[in-house]
Amino acid sequence: MAKKVTVDKDLCIGCGACTGICSNIFAIGDDGKAEVIAEVTDADQESVQAAADSCPVQAIKID
Ligand code: SF4
Repeated sequence: MAKKVTVDKDLCIGCGACTGICSNIFAIGDDGKAEVIAEVTDADQESVQAAADSCPVQAIKID
């Protein structure tokens, strides 16, 4: 099952850790904060989880 992934922009500090780990799903937007740029497939789930685990402010939510 594909999961719904979101970034809480109020928490994100734009450190770039998630984009470094999982660049096909996360990118830094014009506002300097991370956003989800693609649908998360089953194949992405491990790297998305790694990105979420690496986020220093726990801004990445996986439902
Ligand atoms: S790792 Fe967290 S704080 Fe850093 S850019 Fe990604 S969502 Fe934002």
